[in-house]
Amino acid sequence: MERVYIGLGSNLATPQAQLDNALAALDRLPQSRRVATSAFYGSAPLGPADQPRYVNAVVALDTRLAPLELLDALQAIELAQGRVRKDERWGPRTLDLDILLFGERLIDEPRLQVPHYHMHARPFVLYPLAEIAPERLRLADGRLLGELLAACPPEGLERLDRAQPT
Ligand code: ATP
Ligand code: MG
Ligand code: MG
Repeated sequence: MERVYIGLGSNLATPQAQLDNALAALDRLPQSRRVATSAFYGSAPLGPADQPRYVNAVVALDTRLAPLELLDALQAIELAQGRVRKDERWGPRTLDLDILLFGERLIDEPRLQVPHYHMHARPFVLYPLAEIAPERLRLADGRLLGELLAACPPEGLERLDRAQPT
């Protein structure tokens, strides 16, 4: 088993329901078990500003799937929830599932780079991750999560007041 952290995001079609559906879909993945889930957060959109705010969360998953098998499965969940890939980068979407960390692995393949290339600068990733990750979590490149948080103010981020997802 390896411990994987996955970032969830949605800003279309009732984002909180999209995340709830995504959690249920993650629970149906083979050879995998969801072991922790952050609160949901509201966040300012990255890229084009003329789109709704996002809802984000991070989950920890223990899995025996290989990295590309997991990526395939996550992309299938995105498509099942109506994700349409457009040319515009960072445009609105029903669901985004990004692999943030995969155990201690450093992965650099055409379809998959881990740690996620931009997680260190995204408050909507780092703050929910910090809720569920060990305090001394270290990225494969040596950086401590605490150091990343200190350099990334929670601008535009709002912890949503809702029942803790299960
Ligand atoms: P960003 O990657 O900046 O968060 P995005 O999530 O909107 O942007 P997508 O359209 O979801 O980007 O994915 C584009 C491609 O990124 C995917 O087809 C996938 O192959 C690739 N990719 C590379 N590394 C990862 C990763 N760690 N997690 C998920 N997808 C990844
Ligand atoms: Mg993304
Ligand atoms: Mg993505």
